[in-house]
Formats: sequence, C-alpha cells, structure tokens
Amino acid sequence: MIEKISYTELYRKLFHYYGPQGWWPAASDFQMLISAILVQRTNWKNVELALGNLGGNITAGKIMQMKEAELAEKIRPSGFYRMKAKKVKAWLQWFQKYDFQIEEVQKVDPAVLRKELLAVHGIGEETADAMMLYAFKKPGFIADNYAVRLFQRLGYPLPKTYHAFKIEVEKLFPHDLEMHQEFHALIVEHGKQYCKKTPLCENCLLLSNCRMGREKKME
Ligand code: SF4
Repeated sequence: MIEKISYTELYRKLFHYYGPQGWWPAASDFQMLISAILVQRTNWKNVELALGNLGGNITAGKIMQMKEAELAEKIRPSGFYRMKAKKVKAWLQWFQKYDFQIEEVQKVDPAVLRKELLAVHGIGEETADAMMLYAFKKPGFIADNYAVRLFQRLGYPLPKTYHAFKIEVEKLFPHDLEMHQEFHALIVEHGKQYCKKTPLCENCLLLSNCRMGREKKME
C-alpha cells in the first residue's frame, strides 16, 4: 500500500533528509542570472569553468563591453557557446532597461516579469523561472526534468505541459520564497543521489510513498 503524500509533505521529507541546500550555487545574484543561461543543456561543472573564465567579479557592464566572439570564447566550456553568447547579450539588452539593477527588476509584478523574460531570445520557461526564483525573488515552482521524473515515479498525476505542471504544484504548495528555492534544489539533489535515470530505490527515503519504488520491490 502506497502512502500518498502532499507536495508539502514531500518537501518536508526531502528537507529533513538532505538539509538546507542554500541554492543557487553562485557567488552573486548577477552570476546566478548568467549561469541560468550557461547551464542550459550542460552540467554545473562546465558552467563553473565558464564562470571561472569570466572572472569572479563579473558585471553586466563588463560583459556589455565584450565583443560577442570574445564572450563566446570565455564561455566555451559550457558548450553551445556561440549560441549562449548571443543569448547572454540579448538578455543583457533586456536587463539594461532596468539599468542592470536587480533590485529594480524585483519590484516588477511576477506575471509581467515572466512574460518579459520569455520574450527575450533564448530564455525558455525553465531559465526564466530559475532567474525569477533565485535572483528576482519571486516564489514559483520549476517544472524541470528532475521534477517530472520524480513526480511521475511517485505516482502524482502529471499535467502534459511545463506550464500546467508548474501551476498545479503552485496551487497546492505554500507561496513561500525560501520553501520554493529549497524545494527545487532538493528535487535536483534527490534526482542526483537516488532518483537517477536508473533509480536506487532500495534505500530511498521515499520508497513507502512511491509507485515505481513499490512496483520494483514486488518484481
Ligand atoms: S523509490 Fe525509486 S523511483 Fe521512487 S523516488 Fe525513490 S529512487 Fe525514485
């Protein structure tokens, strides 16, 4: 018999097991924003190499002064570097509207901000939501592949689109910035440690709540 748990209970279990994650793993909010683009279709180790090339005290002004080709060369370790240099430049053009002031963007209504970000070249839903959650301090659920995989395996009914999934969770989860920040980080951590592509169900803390885990146990 599976003990179905709420999203909040799932959060509590993960938090209790892994502890606070303190995401996003970047030195500054601006670095967080740039790395949200760099991490597209690659892993964090490669992003760290690219950030290292950009230098610890990277600012919007410094990147604006760089030619696109120079920026591309610096972020080469993150892969798709020419494409990403274009995206970073396009995103900075949007950011310029707020004088590169993160505090100014934080004042914008979340729905308006999300729409603006999604209109920028190369900013998809996941990237926009990560920027909103960690740098612009707008609580919201990131319905990324880790979340899809975990929720599907646990047996939650999963809406078909990214946006519908996000809205569904947000309806039933506290509208709390810190909890959302931790929830996303915890889901990623769990996806890396146990709920991998090939899951390690035997010792998983969610085994009693998980449809796939129970099915595997009965095989
Ligand atoms: S029991 Fe297995 S499938 Fe379920 S959450 Fe844990 S690792 Fe993932």
